[in-house]
Amino acid sequence: MRIDDLLREYRSVWALDHARSLLEWDLEVNMPVEGAAARGEALARLTLIRREYLLRLKDLVDKYEESKDLNDLERGVIRVLRRELKYYTSIPPEILEELDRTTTKAAVVWREAKKESNFEKFKPYLTKIVELEQTIADRLGYEGHPYNALLDLYEEGFTVNDADSVFNKLLPNLKTILEKIRSEGRFPERHPLEEVPYDVNVMRSINEELLKILEMPVGSRFRMDVSAHPFTISMSVNDVRITTRYEGKDFRATMFSVIHESGHAMYELMIDPSLEMTPVGRGVSMGVHESQSRFWENIIGRSREFVHLIYPLLKERLPFLKDYSEDDVYRYFNIVRPSLIRVDADEVTYNFHIALRYEIEKGLIANKLSVSDLPSLWNDFMDKYLGVRPRNDAEGVLQDIHWSQGSFGYFPTYTLGNVIAGMIYAKLPQLKDKVINRRFNEIREFLRDRICRHGAIYPPKELLMRAFNDTYNPDYLLNYLREKYLGG
Ligand code: MG
Repeated sequence: MRIDDLLREYRSVWALDHARSLLEWDLEVNMPVEGAAARGEALARLTLIRREYLLRLKDLVDKYEESKDLNDLERGVIRVLRRELKYYTSIPPEILEELDRTTTKAAVVWREAKKESNFEKFKPYLTKIVELEQTIADRLGYEGHPYNALLDLYEEGFTVNDADSVFNKLLPNLKTILEKIRSEGRFPERHPLEEVPYDVNVMRSINEELLKILEMPVGSRFRMDVSAHPFTISMSVNDVRITTRYEGKDFRATMFSVIHESGHAMYELMIDPSLEMTPVGRGVSMGVHESQSRFWENIIGRSREFVHLIYPLLKERLPFLKDYSEDDVYRYFNIVRPSLIRVDADEVTYNFHIALRYEIEKGLIANKLSVSDLPSLWNDFMDKYLGVRPRNDAEGVLQDIHWSQGSFGYFPTYTLGNVIAGMIYAKLPQLKDKVINRRFNEIREFLRDRICRHGAIYPPKELLMRAFNDTYNPDYLLNYLREKYLGG
């Protein structure tokens, strides 16, 4: 390839990423607690070393950027590296270090503040983080709204205008759908199975069976472990790992986290092997990544057909299901209830939680909202969107970890995941047949061909245009929800 020398140089950056991933995985899965300080220092140092190695690529990137006759892959490599170089060169290292120091402290304070339901305690840290995020947006530069600079970090090319048009379409329609579901009563707002405890060993065995049903390459290219918060991490196209957790009751939670993370893992496992160890051998954006997990979790995992497939297994292993039919389990998997906590939200109400966070982040970054107003603003939004009102800040403005980590611009990608999953649903032929007949291979091949194999070669909007001849169009998601919850 024309850019061989650049790819060779890049291998050192890749090796550092590989090592960091393993250290991060170990930190969540295996590490004794007292190891945290040393691990934090080691990771911080590796991050600095990575920055140095990446900056060394600048001359080669400059050189190839001028070439007119690059192929798609080469152009992708240059684009991805240019974005990374821009991040490192436009933001002074002192600012990144300050953000790092602030968020490290803020994570601890946020946990305490949440426990005490005391927003005032977290407020000075959040104020500082918002200031730093504004500085970062300014340094990165933007057209239009300053929040665009931050959105772009998680979803390349995605802007406030795009987000506004997604939410302006979604929210009123979701509201209508939600009202109809509630008045028809075919899907419950509560279910007795939510409170039933399970045997963790039994659930573990069910999760292992689920991985077999989904045909995950357990032991050869994939593994599953337990951690406090479920996640997926890829060390290589041949080494992708997920975690789940066991809450001890409400057995759908652990199951759906396994299916969700398996969706993320499949994306990484289906990236073309020739992209391994290159800058484009990764998922292209948070939104596209989340579309894979949500497609498998919600559209497949919570479908009537999938329930039919796994009901015998559940019934055989979970003695408390003896009084519950397949239909009962389907309804339990699809409880629809306006609730306070985003991570517990169902697929109908979920996007309201994101819309609220989006409006707040956009306002904070543009200095149109002040941190002091957040608790009451939050509660008013919840009331307006979902008709529920938090009793305290722990179940309101303090519920998510993201702001303490400085992840401004991240939240909207959850909704993009849902929106893109809806597009996949619309374009994948005979999905229901494929699920009920366990032809998951055909589903995977569709996703591999349209999305996964390309890694980050094309920016997300171009990838979506190539795959579906459309970009972030929420109509498909709305149609899917109407068909499932209101149709026939
Ligand atoms: Mg996810």
